[in-house]
Amino acid sequence: MSDPAALDVFDRRESEVRGYIRAFPTVFDRAVGSTLIDADGREYLDFFAGAGVLNYGHNNPVLVRALVEYLERGGILHGLDMATSAKKAFIEAFERFVLEPRGLDHKLQFTGPTGANAVEAALKVARQATGRSNVVAFTNGFHGLSLGALAATGNSHYRAAAGVGLDDIARLPYDGYLGPDVDTLDLFEKMLDDPGSGLDLPAAVIVEAVQGEGGINVASVPWLQRLRELTAARGILLILDEIQAGVGRTGWFFAFEAAGIVPDIVTVSKSISGSGLPMSLVLLRPEVDVWKPGAHTGTFRGNNLAFASARVALETYWADSAFTDAIAAKSELLRGELEQIAAEYPDLGFVVRGRGLMYGLACDRDRGLAGRISKAAFARGLVIETSGAFDEVLKFLPALTITDDELRRGLGIVRESLDAALAG
Ligand code: PLP
Repeated sequence: MSDPAALDVFDRRESEVRGYIRAFPTVFDRAVGSTLIDADGREYLDFFAGAGVLNYGHNNPVLVRALVEYLERGGILHGLDMATSAKKAFIEAFERFVLEPRGLDHKLQFTGPTGANAVEAALKVARQATGRSNVVAFTNGFHGLSLGALAATGNSHYRAAAGVGLDDIARLPYDGYLGPDVDTLDLFEKMLDDPGSGLDLPAAVIVEAVQGEGGINVASVPWLQRLRELTAARGILLILDEIQAGVGRTGWFFAFEAAGIVPDIVTVSKSISGSGLPMSLVLLRPEVDVWKPGAHTGTFRGNNLAFASARVALETYWADSAFTDAIAAKSELLRGELEQIAAEYPDLGFVVRGRGLMYGLACDRDRGLAGRISKAAFARGLVIETSGAFDEVLKFLPALTITDDELRRGLGIVRESLDAALAG
């Protein structure tokens, strides 16, 4: 941790809105793989991976090389949405390594670079394509903080900051919200079929296959399949928000693949560039691509430098199954260790949930515990975040390229930090 004086300028000049700097108060300087290094040379193991942006690790040498080569040869850095060689090569790689192997016929829309930009575009096009305004979103869903995306986001802390009405969204319970014995889609189906329910026929449903910010809640395969059937039967578009759970995070390229469903619209961001550079896209089934030319424009659509690393990431990690096999093995290790911790502390009632390398250790009985563990872990050289409506979930989001040794070392720090948090 840096000398507190090193953070003076942030306290003095950076808006009160700053967030993660408060949980991880040091001045980070360099990073490699799963290690962050602060300005004083102290190393931190990273179990947060930029909230899911750094699936291939920090400064992955293959991806950095791609960026350096692109810069050195004077590749286009800004091209609005004009055709560039970098964009062409990215689209071709995405078609070859992602769309074609999965039999997806979706078109690509490049939006502004943030996840929220992609969500705004997805909601807008769904409303245009159907001529309806209502969209169903789920409890504990997180879709970003610009107004349209915020309306779909559940958390009251973020909603309270809006200052305007967050309209045209109907909220329904996510899978498991009412406990394991209730299929929450019974309610949705009944409301769709009941003219007295007060639910206007939605343009779309927006859903995360695994909720990240909402507390690592996993939608079951049958629930996702039923959601696909219900929506398809009624002409409701299904939007899968893959911004956090996508790009390999759950062990599949897309988290929805586990359910074998095909969404109408998919939002992708965070790790798609591979290098940490901002980049987002929306995948649209051709019949949903009702945009008029230039109707949803913006200056920064398509970050050409990001295209360069994104292409190489796809070529390097998605040409065969070696990467997903490795994620599956590390997922076993992580899950096994978390279940072991849960078994060792029965009084805390820990619940372990997740998929791939996206896991949560939830403690509803002591909702401050996850935050105390995160703080104790930072003091011991581990960056790990919390999530959930009460920040009651310790969130494990390591780089997918993390080594087994690093994973074990970080889990050891979590154990020590848990004991410290309980003692303190
Ligand atoms: N959707 C999901 C599922 C997310 O997890 C996030 C961010 O965490 C977003 C959308 C918003 O992305 P951004 O913060 O880049 O706007």
